[in-house]
Amino acid sequence: MPNSITQQMENPRAFNYHLNTFKRAFHAIHANMNAASGIVYFVGAGPGAPGLLTLRGAECLRRADIVLYDYLVNPELLAHAADSAEKLCLGRHGRSTKWPQEAINKKLVEEAKLGKIVVRLKGGDPMVFGRAAEEVGTVARENIPFEIIPGVTAALAGAAYTGIPITNRNHASAIAFVTGQENASKESSAIDYEVLARFPGTLVFYMGITTSRHWTSKLIENGLPPETQVTVLRRCSWPDQRAIHCRLDEVADRVTPYSKFPPPAIAIVSTTGERVIESWFEQLPLFGLTVLVSRPRHQAKEMSDRFCELGARVLLQPALRIEDPQDWQGMDDAILNLDRYDWIVFSSANAVHQFMKRLNDLDRDIRALGSLKITVVGPHTASTLREYHLKTDLVPEDGFNAESVAALLEPVAAGANFLLPRASRGRETLENRLQKAGGNVQSVVAYEHLDETVADPEVLEELAEGNIDWLVMTSPGIAKALDKLLGKQISKVKTATISPLTSQAVRELGWQVAAEAETATSEGIVAAIINATRTQR
Ligand code: SAH
Repeated sequence: MPNSITQQMENPRAFNYHLNTFKRAFHAIHANMNAASGIVYFVGAGPGAPGLLTLRGAECLRRADIVLYDYLVNPELLAHAADSAEKLCLGRHGRSTKWPQEAINKKLVEEAKLGKIVVRLKGGDPMVFGRAAEEVGTVARENIPFEIIPGVTAALAGAAYTGIPITNRNHASAIAFVTGQENASKESSAIDYEVLARFPGTLVFYMGITTSRHWTSKLIENGLPPETQVTVLRRCSWPDQRAIHCRLDEVADRVTPYSKFPPPAIAIVSTTGERVIESWFEQLPLFGLTVLVSRPRHQAKEMSDRFCELGARVLLQPALRIEDPQDWQGMDDAILNLDRYDWIVFSSANAVHQFMKRLNDLDRDIRALGSLKITVVGPHTASTLREYHLKTDLVPEDGFNAESVAALLEPVAAGANFLLPRASRGRETLENRLQKAGGNVQSVVAYEHLDETVADPEVLEELAEGNIDWLVMTSPGIAKALDKLLGKQISKVKTATISPLTSQAVRELGWQVAAEAETATSEGIVAAIINATRTQR
């Protein structure tokens, strides 16, 4: 009988025999399963940055009925799960009570036996210092089907995010993952420091901050040179990642008191001694800064993602929310008589979405727009229209405000009929100028802007502690709402605005403007903050 894969490949009949045996065994396992039984997915969440979850992990989260997650996991990952899925945090380090291991094991089994799809979301990789033996073992013993989905473990993320290759052709031919916290019940140390001191490669200590004096001196006693280079890295891949590069004999002093360098942190003991590349992550233009984005929740994602990509930590405090108009009559009348108009002018992405929603509610589709010409305020609104397969006839080249749209349309306004779906409150500039130029203008309310009245307590706390660097404001209405929502605290933060009009509103409220976008777009604001930061740094 062939005994290696290559031999099997050379002998396809034998190979098929093995494959079929495997398939039969697999089906038998599944047939034996209790039909009502659920399944447990042990999913590695990676080190923190939400993009480091695997595709399979995201897929499992989407299916989950219940997600049990660790304190190390970025809560943003929970957005992959359905709103209806139950999400249970099993304890936050140093804060609320942590679930005992026994209780976690029991809960996994109980929920799966109810027929649920259970996701056990664990920091890093589930099989690395993750109590996998207990959790997976319990589930397996109960004959509950399970799957283990790997994640990016802290050591590997640490290598990538600091620019330390943890293997090296010349000096580091192996990597060892070592725990800094041995099981206290063990009688003698399972860690052989003599062997570790002679290890021909990189040592990565997990959970080793509070015990750093112990393991560093053990390594030195056993012959590792005190000048060996170590990188201690906390919150790897999070926007507040911090790294200390020092000698082995300096580690304990550099991380003490531990409150200054709290977990999670790893120590990379690097026999190669050098960083080949600088940390690309810490060199990002907004690394280390916290930005508060104040757009309505559904519109904040694009801007927030961009700030994150540039290294910033992003907090969200919507200042306004969008709701349907109290009365759709004006809009409905316009939609049912679109052939009355020559032009439709969309002055925001919200106006586009609301118009399209109502068109659909009235059982119409884009064919109802017929030969209507379309104008928008700027490129973002134009791209929103493209989501509905509509192109624009006119877009201002700059300004991206009511004035620039008016300037475009005035030459064709005389005798033309304009439809303006818009917010319930807002400026009348466009309407007035088109009318003055001889146009017939019909404004209809597409949505209401309502001020948010309760601030997120976490945001208030971060503001009070002076942890927020920038506050982004994208309209005069948002500036006014934030003034009511956050009050005097705003003076502690630098403000960045999207346009001169927003800046004017900010100044009228008594605050200063530290950066203003050159073009009134999200990218414009991002660029203004990068410029201001560069000048400052
Ligand atoms: N299963 C996890 C390890 C869990 S043990 C993994 O594969 O990464 C918890 C320890 O992991 C922490 O004390 C710390 O040493 C390390 N750790 C986890 N996430 C980390 C991060 N983002 N940055 C630095 N260390 C991290």
